[in-house]
Amino acid sequence: MRKWEILLLGLTGLFVLFLIVTGFKFVALTSKQPAAHPVKIDLTEEDAVARFSKAITYPTISHQDYSQFSYSEFDGFLDFLKESYPLVDEHLHLDKVNEYGLIYRWQGSEETKKPIGLTAHYDVVPILEGTETDWGQSPFSGEVVDGKIWGRGTLDDKIGVIGILEAVEKLLSEDFQPERDVYLLFGFDEEVGGEKGAQAIADELKQRNIKFEFILDEGGAIIEGMVPGLDNPVGVVGLSEKGMATAELSTEGSGGHSSQPENRTNIGRIARAIAKLEKEQFPADLQGPAEELFAYTAPEMKGAMKYVFANQAIFEPVIESILLEKPATAALLRTTIAPTIFQAGEQYNALPEKATAVVNLRVMPGESLEDVRTFIEKTIDDDLVQVNVTGNEASPVSSIDSWHFKAVQQAARNVYPEAVIAPYLMFAGSDARHYDRIADNTYRFLPVLITAEDLNRMHGSNEHISIDNFLHAISFYQEIIKTADQQAGDQ
Ligand SMILES: [Zn+2]
Repeated sequence: MRKWEILLLGLTGLFVLFLIVTGFKFVALTSKQPAAHPVKIDLTEEDAVARFSKAITYPTISHQDYSQFSYSEFDGFLDFLKESYPLVDEHLHLDKVNEYGLIYRWQGSEETKKPIGLTAHYDVVPILEGTETDWGQSPFSGEVVDGKIWGRGTLDDKIGVIGILEAVEKLLSEDFQPERDVYLLFGFDEEVGGEKGAQAIADELKQRNIKFEFILDEGGAIIEGMVPGLDNPVGVVGLSEKGMATAELSTEGSGGHSSQPENRTNIGRIARAIAKLEKEQFPADLQGPAEELFAYTAPEMKGAMKYVFANQAIFEPVIESILLEKPATAALLRTTIAPTIFQAGEQYNALPEKATAVVNLRVMPGESLEDVRTFIEKTIDDDLVQVNVTGNEASPVSSIDSWHFKAVQQAARNVYPEAVIAPYLMFAGSDARHYDRIADNTYRFLPVLITAEDLNRMHGSNEHISIDNFLHAISFYQEIIKTADQQAGDQ
């Protein structure tokens, strides 16, 4: 044989081996979904819908400035809860923190078992001025039209509060008693950071020495068309939320007259720093919750996508470059950089003495604010630019091997048997981050089936939800309480 023939034979051999190995991985990929035990939804629909609709009519809007709250609306909402859920009122013990943060304790029969917590918030974001008329139904009407309930809070997050209370009221009406304590924790200022609500509730529970198995908050949802190569809707359970940092870049120096400028002006210096950051970008890596998202969805995919994701290790560079093309998936892989404020100059013919820019960053779990500062300084490489970084660190990453995650997954599958339930990373902030320190794990999942369009309505106009989704959510909360009891726990 000639040399090139040997080489060709060798290459063919390697290629065949490659196909065998990757093909084997493709075939051997097994589902990570538990078998669904579909539940029948058994509720008096009209009554539940009427209560949810009424809940929407209280404009419980939160503001950065706490003196701007209309507390009478919050009082009204609390009275409404007391009247509407008499069994909850009778059987659960209620404590209030800062008057409006609610801790309901439903005592379990087994003292030795650690509790679980279900949390949600009943404050809502305001209606942006000038958008009132964009709404198909008035935002605080709670109007029910064509099988949909309308208004601010129907998705974010009165659905959580009302869904949980409906579930508990229903279980109480059936004389169900949980084995482990179930806490219902409702915040009233999540949209402005949760300091007086969730944070204070967590402080209070910490002081009582209560440690939870897990706490479940809003966050991910069941979304259609979310993962490429997968027809089924995917329910994403947030294991962690990214940190949020504010980096202020500033430079000061002689301004002078614009007729004889220095080669590098203050504006030029800050502009160059931003341009360098955007060009460089933080390193991207498919790891942690994002990697798990694909590990859980790949077995349910079809064809080429399944082949690629079955061999994630080999195709990682290809997968990463595909994911980096879209902002929504790029954010799964790296800390993101968003310049949001740029300030300098007042007069057209005077060089400003100072220029500043503010960059909003969403920080990957595993990276610290200190890492962020170091990266920025190294990238812009300019001693005359001061870099000041403040913000919240990313939250710890909750476990997917625990029975906690499996219980959430099982409950979701029972209510949405067609959905693939997978872990993921949340980009936005939630109250859940306040609960990390009092729970073994925290998960972020709202049990509703929605589209990407619905997601945009959350803080925008025309927020609404289908009655069907509302009933499924109630059913899910019943399931999670029951499923958590069926676990051995405390091992
Ligand atoms: Zn929310």
